[in-house]
Amino acid sequence: MPFAYYARLSPARQRIYRQSDAIVSLDLPPGAAVGPRVAHIRAGLARDDRAAVQTASQALIDALVAGYRVPRIRVRVLAKRPADDSGELHGLYEPDEGATPARISVWMRTAARRDVVAFKTFLRTLIHELCHHLDYELYKLPETFHTEGFYKRESTLVAALLREEAAAADPQGRLL
Ligand SMILES: [Zn+2]
Repeated sequence: MPFAYYARLSPARQRIYRQSDAIVSLDLPPGAAVGPRVAHIRAGLARDDRAAVQTASQALIDALVAGYRVPRIRVRVLAKRPADDSGELHGLYEPDEGATPARISVWMRTAARRDVVAFKTFLRTLIHELCHHLDYELYKLPETFHTEGFYKRESTLVAALLREEAAAADPQGRLL
């Protein structure tokens, strides 16, 4: 059952939508050491340390794009979302342009709420933007749509990353 906007798409775009919708899970690339990187994002957010979150987010995305064998992405973690920007999302994906690599921007705070965004929201936002990149670079779709399949890929990858994070810590939650 596609989302309502499907009906307004051209037949060619509906075909892309259906391709996207048909891919319903996304596994971690084999051998990617991602658990500690996820843990570093959590720790950086807890300390409200933008530079640490930026470094850990870039490291996580670097490991994932290397594992999927797709072009790299520059990750930018910004302190606060611009106030004139509307909507609930906390991130932005900009595809590559010529020599400029693709870029993900993620905000640590929303304009409305000054609090640091919750760790799982932050991780989900980062992976959401990565999924746009994978639509173009891994699945070779000409366009990237928010489909049910898209959100399922996002969810399965986030869940796998959280499992890896848990496996990278000892029973007291300390990072190994
Ligand atoms: Zn999106």
